[in-house]
Amino acid sequence: MTASILDGKALSEQVRAEIARDAADFTRRTGVTPCLAAVLAGDNPASQVYVRSKQKACQQAGMTSQLNRLPEETSTAELLGLIARLNGDAGVHGILVQLPLPKGVDETRVLDAVDPLKDVDAFHAENVGRIVQGRPRFLPCTPHGIQQLLMRSGVTIAGANVVVLGRSEIVGKPMALMLMQRATGGDATVTVCHSRTRNLPEVTRQADILIVAIGRAKFVTAAMVKPGAVVIDVGINRTEAGLVGDVDFEAVKEVAGQITPVPGGVGPLTVAMLLHNTLAAARLQQVPSPSGSALE
Ligand code: NAP
Repeated sequence: MTASILDGKALSEQVRAEIARDAADFTRRTGVTPCLAAVLAGDNPASQVYVRSKQKACQQAGMTSQLNRLPEETSTAELLGLIARLNGDAGVHGILVQLPLPKGVDETRVLDAVDPLKDVDAFHAENVGRIVQGRPRFLPCTPHGIQQLLMRSGVTIAGANVVVLGRSEIVGKPMALMLMQRATGGDATVTVCHSRTRNLPEVTRQADILIVAIGRAKFVTAAMVKPGAVVIDVGINRTEAGLVGDVDFEAVKEVAGQITPVPGGVGPLTVAMLLHNTLAAARLQQVPSPSGSALE
């Protein structure tokens, strides 16, 4: 059996076209063009590539973006000053702080300083708390992209055994929370695994849907996957052989039912969902919804 490919790139183009249409409609009605402000501190080459591609995507969707660059030697105080200025700028609707921040910067303090209404990455404690309680304002971009990919590909999530490998604040933890919610795109039975999990292959083999976000090249082998499972590979690892995921794609595709490639799987959807949140933030700041949710 060879798995069918879950084409994140193609789906992201569809989602981006939908967002561009909605953004144009919003601008026509309100006269406001949604604007994303990116904060890039230091000179991490991968971060520069990510920020550039996010800015380009904004422009293609009819939104504006601005880049705020700070040097590697930036202090926490300088970053807090910049965030305060962006929070107070009515022309900025979304603030994206590209991680990782330079060594010595207090990342938590910086992320906590972002106005929760402009927190398009959904990292702020208030927004995370709302996700936990099942009344999200914004959904974090990578897990939201994965949930959309599953739903729009017709994968049954309700009642499925989902194993999330990795418990980061950015991917694993919110992914697990979203899929276990009593809601559309949720209702799964979720197990979260990490570096201390015992008998990992035994656990991952229980998964109808296996989501891997650990940052270890080709870590998940065919023996760790139940035949016919849906395998979502979040990993981005730069190796001598090029970009590879956390899943041994060639071997696992012979066992899985559906699988995402790297590149061209989860990555493009992450960018699409950032656009979704930027438009949602602009809407929220224009006409606050009674429930405080941007997802309505
Ligand atoms: P992270 O913060 O690097 O954390 C890694 C997680 O994996 C931790 O929970 C860790 O467990 C677990 N882990 C590490 N080695 C393990 C092992 N041998 N067995 C079991 N669990 C293990 O994770 P992240 O930020 O979510 O990033 C993960 C990967 O996804 C990276 O390659 C990153 O580049 C990629 N990523 C891609 C996108 C995208 O848009 N495609 C977005 C975000 C991240 P402990 O908690 O026990 O340490």
